Amino acid sequence: MSVETKSKAASGKRAVHPNTWVYFDGEFGRYHDIKLGLMTHALHYGTGVFEGIRAYWNPKQEQLHLLQAPAHYDRLRRSANIMRLTLPHSTEELVNLTVEVLRRNQFKSDVYIRPLLFTAGEEIGVRLHNIAQSFLIYAIPFGNYVEIEGGLRCMVSTWRRVPDQSLPARAKVTGAYAQSALAKSEANEAGYDEAIVLTVDGHVSEGSAENLFMIKDGAFVTPPVTDDILEGVTRTLLIGLIKDELGLPVIERSIDRTELYACDELLLCGTGAQVAPVIEVDRRLVGNGKVGEFTQELQNIYFGAVRGESAKHKGWTIPVY
Ligand code: PMP
Repeated sequence: MSVETKSKAASGKRAVHPNTWVYFDGEFGRYHDIKLGLMTHALHYGTGVFEGIRAYWNPKQEQLHLLQAPAHYDRLRRSANIMRLTLPHSTEELVNLTVEVLRRNQFKSDVYIRPLLFTAGEEIGVRLHNIAQSFLIYAIPFGNYVEIEGGLRCMVSTWRRVPDQSLPARAKVTGAYAQSALAKSEANEAGYDEAIVLTVDGHVSEGSAENLFMIKDGAFVTPPVTDDILEGVTRTLLIGLIKDELGLPVIERSIDRTELYACDELLLCGTGAQVAPVIEVDRRLVGNGKVGEFTQELQNIYFGAVRGESAKHKGWTIPVY
């Protein structure tokens, strides 16, 4: 391949949303006008922290509902603090900037929003101190990240979750997603939909980009925040719904791998994954191999709330228009 063809292929890949409005280092601009240097530090060292936020379009209301933005920005601040990075705005300012990005784009569909804070100096030398930082927010139309109706077929990954001693999973660090990518590709290439990843000591941690709940004997069980999970915003929302709407207990405790083979229902959750039933793990059916009753009920309540249809959960979202 000639140099010219190669660079055309690369720029073709880049120009997916050329006219989208984005926020970058204090200004709003068009996606295709933002220039990042080849030497951008975080591109090489994975030294960024980020978020994934959703906004849901409600066609009947003609309204876009921004979901849990303050919770995501609070987590971004905690991630930044762990990684010695500094978020340049308050949570309130960040929420307002996000609303502005969405309004400028006039989205009338479900949207995924990606804030990213990263080491941006064009320098060689891995570190977190004494290096310029940049901050951006972009947003794109986005549908389902994983299958949410028929149920997922999962495998327990041969890769282990990054331990807190090496790379804190509770911080949403760009570089840590190399581990998620290894697990996800291994699962997909082996014919599964998603990976479930264990901690180094062999307990169930989470999916490649999702938290996990198991249902056994009428109780929901989920790994504790000390089992190398990202402390999910959706996880917190579901804990509330399970207790308040389903009236069932939630137990936060370590889960053994083989409990996944012996539970009644299993689900993965996250901003991207939403509420995704799991029907098979390592070629063993979960329960009767069909989407579980409690999981289905939880999913229905969740979608009502995120699309701004539940008066009780109005506080979950911010109307964009
Ligand atoms: N774990 C990992 C590794 C993730 O990437 C995500 C997605 N952000 C989650 C869990 C779920 O977190 P949240 O509900 O905040 O999206």
